[in-house]
Amino acid sequence: DKYTKIYAERTGKSRELFERARRVLPGGTTYQIRYFAPYPIYITRASGVKVWDVDGNEYVDYWMGHGTHILGHSPDFVVKAVNEAAYEGTHLGYPNTLEVEYAELLAKVIPNVEMVRFSNSGTEANMYAVRLARAYTGRRYVIKMEGGWHGGYDGLHVGVSPPFEGPESLGLPPEHIKYTLVVPFNDLNALENALRNFDVAAVIVEPVLGSGGCIEPQPGYLKGVRELVDRYGALLIFDEVITGFRLALGGGQELFNVKADIVTLGKIVGGGYPGAGAIASRTEIMELLNQVKRPNARARSFHGGTFTGNRITLTAGYTLINYLSQHKPLYESFNDLWNWVRGEIDRACEEYGRICWATGVGGMLGIHFTRSRPMNARMAYADRIDENLYSLTHLFMRVKGILYMTEHTAHLLPSMIHTRDHARVLMEEFRNLLSEV
Ligand code: PLP
Repeated sequence: DKYTKIYAERTGKSRELFERARRVLPGGTTYQIRYFAPYPIYITRASGVKVWDVDGNEYVDYWMGHGTHILGHSPDFVVKAVNEAAYEGTHLGYPNTLEVEYAELLAKVIPNVEMVRFSNSGTEANMYAVRLARAYTGRRYVIKMEGGWHGGYDGLHVGVSPPFEGPESLGLPPEHIKYTLVVPFNDLNALENALRNFDVAAVIVEPVLGSGGCIEPQPGYLKGVRELVDRYGALLIFDEVITGFRLALGGGQELFNVKADIVTLGKIVGGGYPGAGAIASRTEIMELLNQVKRPNARARSFHGGTFTGNRITLTAGYTLINYLSQHKPLYESFNDLWNWVRGEIDRACEEYGRICWATGVGGMLGIHFTRSRPMNARMAYADRIDENLYSLTHLFMRVKGILYMTEHTAHLLPSMIHTRDHARVLMEEFRNLLSEV
């Protein structure tokens, strides 16, 4: 009550905006996960690690544009490069120099990647990756993880939230997910069972389960997945939309030293600009998209789209990734800092009677108010002590000037420019929260 009152006192303009928004935007938002009760704050400005709302409140942002801004909001050198590029044409709609250069750069920094196609979002990248895997293997089934979020594409929009079965949306015919199998993350037996019983084209997995809880793979799990996928002749798709350029420059493949057949990218690959996505793989697989070698559309796998390879996104992405490739030691300090924070938060949870657990790897941090340490999405949901703890934590933190998403899950995706001091404030406030609940 105390915090609800403070929140109401400080966010009058956001409340008014929400009233207007509700009439013209369903739920008052553009994406349901951006809502929180009783009304969300409306942001007017972002810079570095901070965002400001219409009422002038300042927050340290741990959501960072859905995990997009690995170097903080609007890094100068990226914005400058984009502004200059914009005057030369925002979207050329023809083959262009930059798409060649950026594809070369990605093939250099991402393990096991020889060729790239740019798409407009992570959703699209995954949709085309699944199609490509089916084209390559001549098989139909796809296995995904419970809690695995790969975007709103029909074929992967199942098994995202409890009860982890059936369509995740109205308007999604069950026939569209007939060939999608769902198994728990960190469970090799369930995976093998599915592989043994169905003609599986691909297993799609996030190296660290993202929106399903920021849950780390158990030691040996990803290697086990790789072995099983090989044994049953399927392809392994790593959805690196969150983990790419976050866990390491080369993403989860590099950090865990496990080879994927197809990697999908989003978020950071666009350098903070929209239209961020890519499918990356080895030549043998990617050549199924080659219109020169396969002039007959029916003998090739489709990928395309109006804004693919647009200059704005590619300029931002190239400029950012090029910078990161020249500053690789940043990853070590980034991972060290957030592994330390996770340890400290977990220790605090232990001190306060184990009502919570900190999960994740490096700059992917999950906090769970569960009875045991969650190893998969089912545990992250079913094992909850009290649903209200999540919304209370969210409210408490935003009153303290700390923002993350969502109200129903506590996931933090810090940037490399969040400092040890920011982390200290976060940990201190988390301890304050625990001492109050
Ligand atoms: N894959 C993962 C792991 C994601 O976290 C997301 C988005 O959050 C997507 C795919 C979908 O990407 P987009 O929202 O760019 O379509």
